[in-house]
Amino acid sequence: MSTVTLPDPDRVVLARRNEVVKQLKKLAPQAVMIADLEGRRTFESDALAAYRRLPLAVVLPASTEEVSAILRFCNENHVKVVPRGAGTSLCGGATPLEDSIVLCLSRMNKILEIDAANRVARVEAGSTNISITQAASAQGFFYAPDPSSQVACTVGGNIATNSGGAHCLKYGVTVNNLLAVRMVMMDGEIVDFGGSHLDSPNYDFLPLITGSEGQLGVVTEASVRLLAAPEGARPVLIGFDSAQAAASCVAAIIASGIVPVAIEFMDRPAIHVCEHFVPAGYPLDAEAALIVEVEGSEDEIEYLLEKIEDIAQDYNPISTRRSQSAEESALIWKGRKAAFGAIGQVSDYMCMDGVIPLSALSAALEGVSQICRKYRFDVANIFHAGDGNLHPL
Ligand SMILES: Cc1cc2nc3c(=O)[nH]c(=O)nc-3n(C[C@H](O)[C@H](O)[C@H](O)COP(=O)(O)OP(=O)(O)OC[C@H]3O[C@@H](n4cnc5c(N)ncnc54)[C@H](O)[C@@H]3O)c2cc1C
Repeated sequence: MSTVTLPDPDRVVLARRNEVVKQLKKLAPQAVMIADLEGRRTFESDALAAYRRLPLAVVLPASTEEVSAILRFCNENHVKVVPRGAGTSLCGGATPLEDSIVLCLSRMNKILEIDAANRVARVEAGSTNISITQAASAQGFFYAPDPSSQVACTVGGNIATNSGGAHCLKYGVTVNNLLAVRMVMMDGEIVDFGGSHLDSPNYDFLPLITGSEGQLGVVTEASVRLLAAPEGARPVLIGFDSAQAAASCVAAIIASGIVPVAIEFMDRPAIHVCEHFVPAGYPLDAEAALIVEVEGSEDEIEYLLEKIEDIAQDYNPISTRRSQSAEESALIWKGRKAAFGAIGQVSDYMCMDGVIPLSALSAALEGVSQICRKYRFDVANIFHAGDGNLHPL
């Protein structure tokens, strides 16, 4: 239920809706313009669906020049603009206002260049996250940040929210993998930041732009780092008889100096819902489970998994299952990445998202469960444990 009051719309702008739509069509002839009621409804919220507002219109431009013309017009005519990629934001960043237009970049989805020699991909901002790895994989590269929404979410949205994902424990989040952006300022000026290699000349504004939720301008193009795909990667699935034991094991793995590519945590409700959705062989008798993935040569993988299983012994695991094949690994990840959808099938949910120090993991889980008991909420915990990124839902 909504508890935040959204601002009242500017009646003068609302009264000029038809004129605004007409002018935008003229200024951006290649853009798709959605002005009818049904079409606009599709864009009335992002993934935080508790908050909804019908925008004045939705514009899907085809080029940076069109974005520039649209922003210049809106700036001069006091029309608010809400940039949008795929609308998967969980915090309402792409929620429109009634007196705003939605500027949706999803049609600008070309992979412009895969520069293997310099390990850089240049893409339009509406490209989906997964499409970069898909385009680069034939040459042995991948794009590291992998939000669970990666089949849908866009690079522009990833930059605006500094997205992370399961594999960011080793490779960092979006800001650590971004080299350059082309951005249109709110007055229509087109500006380039960064370059095609690390530490390019001039002030480094990329960390300021990354995570700014579209408030500084609209990103239309980005250059991102490509990494060489590892020789191999394999997860181990470890079941525990308490969430606290699993949380303590995460802290111990990190403290040992091993850097797995991913450590994912699932509590009992999450294990059951995900297993029902994707039968991946999660341990149904466990109170909590960790998916710990390491990568490298086969020898390295064996060595690291051995060490991780040794560390886990101190926390009395009730089951340990190393993936034996690429298919088994893919299934384990498929279940994990489908978690939000799986939980959405059994119940409406609210999701809180935050990062805490690893040493506080166990206490934070206990705190979450106390709050949920007090207010009689069911809760499932499934999160990127290696970097302390909780999102109880
Ligand atoms: C099932 C599910 C799983 C998720 N898992 C993760 C996860 O593992 N890690 C994670 O970090 N997030 C996750 N998210 C949240 C979300 O997917 C990310 O924040 C994602 O980066 C948003 O991208 P988007 O294209 O959908 O952006 P939108 O939701 O459309 O927009 C998000 C914000 O970016 C701004 N924006 C969008 N495009 C641009 C642009 N071109 N220029 C400037 N500003 C822009 C918008 O105004 C808004 O403020 C998940 C969401 C869902 C629904």
